[in-house]
Amino acid sequence: MATTYKTLYKCRDCGATSYQQVIDRGPNGVLQPTGQYRCTGCRNIFATIRAWWEPRRAQDFQPSSFAG
Ligand SMILES: [Zn+2]
Repeated sequence: MATTYKTLYKCRDCGATSYQQVIDRGPNGVLQPTGQYRCTGCRNIFATIRAWWEPRRAQDFQPSSFAG
C-alpha cells in the first residue's frame, strides 16, 4: 500500500483530507513515485498538491502550470 498523507487541506472535488503519492514502475522495473498525487477520496490524480486543494477559478487558470 502507498503511504497516505494527511493534510489540513481538502480535495476540491470530494472533500477528502488525505492523498497518496502515485507510484509507478519505471523503465528499469523499479517502483517509484511519479511526482503526482492521487486523492484518497475521488481517486483523481493531480500534478501538484496545490492543484488538489485549490478551487477551480477560471480567472486564475494558468496553462503553463497545467501538465495534463
Ligand atoms: Zn477527491
